[in-house]
Amino acid sequence: MSWVLFGGLGYEKRLWEVLGKPSFKVVGTDYVLSTESFTPAPWADGVFAEYLTHNYAGLVAESEGIIHLSNSLFSCYVAIDMAILYQKPAWVFLPGRSWRLLFLSQGEGGCIGCTEPYHPPKPAMVWEKFSPEWLELLATFWKNSPTSSTLWEKEGEMKILPRREDCPLHGEEHPYATGKHQLVVAVSCGENSVAITPSFERAIDLSGYLEEIKPFVRLRKSNVFFVEMEYEKFSCLVFRQGRFIVKGTKEKNTALYLYRQLVGV
Ligand SMILES: [Zn+2]
Repeated sequence: MSWVLFGGLGYEKRLWEVLGKPSFKVVGTDYVLSTESFTPAPWADGVFAEYLTHNYAGLVAESEGIIHLSNSLFSCYVAIDMAILYQKPAWVFLPGRSWRLLFLSQGEGGCIGCTEPYHPPKPAMVWEKFSPEWLELLATFWKNSPTSSTLWEKEGEMKILPRREDCPLHGEEHPYATGKHQLVVAVSCGENSVAITPSFERAIDLSGYLEEIKPFVRLRKSNVFFVEMEYEKFSCLVFRQGRFIVKGTKEKNTALYLYRQLVGV
């Protein structure tokens, strides 16, 4: 059986090497915006050129366990929900103001959803950059994993995660693994554009958002309903309910890449 690596940050091969080259199936690698394609991973035993969605539940069911390293917090919740559903161990790097590492044990303890209900984060662009030192930390515990779910906040600092009975991921419903909570991606038939609509609450305070994103994009227009901007060769609209439209592509992974970077999910 293989481990499933949900990637997207470009550390996939390095992670595989640091862990001693185990059998990996990889979903999502580094996304190259200029060519609108994922970087190949010929070293892996299976590669899926997509970001993680609930459609990969079957892959998790047949796996040894999960590793997750991408810049989407939402994707972390999808992965953890799948791991709980199929009773697999999971190593999840949690992005945010500073990175953290979660080990989800199928023995004792809870998950991140037990203590922190999902809350949409800031654009990935404004987050702390991932430090490869975290890979070494994972390598240290990889073969000798804790018996309880554990969270490393900084290197050396770890705490046990308690289980909470009302955790949505630990309940019967599994809203992330089943697709109840998802990003709905629609490619336009007529126009050269893709729209993303979250199926969950994702309200944005546009004035605060504008200040954060300004240094990274070329602003075209903004009002109380939306922000219009240019990034690379794309034109993007961000609406206050979290809806997103990108013009200049029909590639859904480009839209998802930009959503992670420019909106945050
Ligand atoms: Zn939980």
